[in-house]
Amino acid sequence: MRKPIQYCSFCGRSEREVSFLLTGLTGLICGDCIQNADTILKDALKESGEKSGSGNARSRESNEKASIEPEKLPFPRDIKAFLDQYVIGQDDAKRYLSVAVYNHYKRLLQAESDDGVEIEKSNIIMVGATGTGKTLLAKTIARMLKVPFAIVDATVLTEAGYVGEDIESILTRLLQVANYNVKEAERGIVFIDEIDKIARKSDNPSITRDVSGEGVQQGLLKLLEGSIINVPPQGGRKHPDQPMIAIDTKNILFVCGGAFDGIERKISQRLNTQVVGYTSPAHNTAVDKNNMLQYISPQDLKSFGLIPEIIGRMPVLTYLNPLDKVALRAILTEPKNSIIKQYIKMFKMDGVKLTFDEAALEYVVDKAIEFKLGARGLRSITENMMIDPMFEIPSSEQKELHVTLDYAKSHIERNAMQYAVAS
Ligand code: ADP
Repeated sequence: MRKPIQYCSFCGRSEREVSFLLTGLTGLICGDCIQNADTILKDALKESGEKSGSGNARSRESNEKASIEPEKLPFPRDIKAFLDQYVIGQDDAKRYLSVAVYNHYKRLLQAESDDGVEIEKSNIIMVGATGTGKTLLAKTIARMLKVPFAIVDATVLTEAGYVGEDIESILTRLLQVANYNVKEAERGIVFIDEIDKIARKSDNPSITRDVSGEGVQQGLLKLLEGSIINVPPQGGRKHPDQPMIAIDTKNILFVCGGAFDGIERKISQRLNTQVVGYTSPAHNTAVDKNNMLQYISPQDLKSFGLIPEIIGRMPVLTYLNPLDKVALRAILTEPKNSIIKQYIKMFKMDGVKLTFDEAALEYVVDKAIEFKLGARGLRSITENMMIDPMFEIPSSEQKELHVTLDYAKSHIERNAMQYAVAS
C-alpha cells in the first residue's frame, strides 16, 4: 500500500510542497515553519529581555529587521519621488498613493504607542483604463516598502460554495509570497485587480443569486475592514480536514484597481444633473470631456454597482489618466527599468552597443497607438522589432546595432498582421 502523504502540522503544506519535514512525537514541522518559529522565539526572548532590562545583541538585531524605525519613515514626497523613477505621469494617483502609504507606515508604528487613538486603515481604489499603470504603481510601492506584495484577480472570485475561488484565496496568495511567515503577511499589500468585474450586475435586486458580484463584495468587506480570517494554506476550497492559518487583516493594505468601462457616462450624468451652484464643477470650470475620470466620486462607483459598504472601506479614491503619445514615448526610455534600457542591457551582455534613432522610437509609439495596445503594446512591438538581431547577433562578429526608422518599419511591419487581427 502507498504511504499516505505527510503534512506539516503548522502550515498544513504537504511533503511535496516543502523541502524538509521534521517528525516529532505527535506531528511534523517543515523547514519554513522552523525558521518562522525561530524568528518568533527571538522576538519573544527580546521582549522578555527588555522587560527584565537585559536584551541581548542577537535578539535586538532580529527585531530591528521586523519593525520600521520612525526616523527612517519616508515622507509622502520621498515616496512620490521613488514612484517617479518607475512610473511616468499619473501625478494625482501618485500623490494619493504616497499619502496613503505614509499613513499605512504610521499605522504599523502606532502599535508601539498607547494613547487610545487608533489610526484606521485607508485602503485605496484606483480607476483607470487598462495598461495605464495601476499594477505598476502598486508593484513599485511594494518594492519600496519591502513588504510582501500579492496581485490577485477579482474576476475568479465567487461566493463560497460556487464554482470559482473563495475570497480567502486572496490571503493564501499573500501568505505564499511571504513564504508562510504570518507576521510578514499581516503587514503586506494586496493589489486586487479588476475590482469593477464584481460590480452588482444591475441596480434591481434579481431573482437569481449574484454569486460573482454582490456576494463577492460582501465577502470582501470582511477582509477590507480588518478581521481575523481563517485561510487555507494551499488555497482552493475550504476543506474540513485542512488545517487553517489565522490571519489578521487589520494592517494589510488593500489597493484595488479597475477600468470601470463606461463609468464616464455615469460621471457626466452626475455632473449634468447636479444642482447648479457653487459646488458644481460644470458651473465653475469647463469640463474636460476627454478625461472624465478625473471627476470621479464615490457616488459614481455606487452607480456602477459597488455596494456602499465596500466604497466606505476604500476611502482613498484616485484615477489614472489615459496615456497620450508624449507619455508613451516617455515610457519607452525614461523609467529606471524602461523597455529600451532593458534591451540596451541585454545587448551589452553580448558586447554589442545598441542605439536608436528618435524617429524609430516614435514609430514604435505610433504603432502602439494605431493597434490600440497602449503601454502594454510597446513591449510586444519592440520585441518584434528586435527578434531578428537578438537571434543573429550573439553568434556573429557584429559589435554595434543602430536602429533607424527604416529598420524599425521593415521589422515591425513584417509582423504587423498579428496586431491587425488582435486589434
Ligand atoms: P494596468 O494595471 O493599469 O492595466 P499595468 O500597470 O499592468 O496596467 O501596465 C502595463 C505595462 O505598461 C507596465 O508593465 C508598464 O511597462 C507599462 N506602463 C503603463 N503605464 C505606465 C506608466 N504610467 N509609466 C511607465 N510604464 C507604464
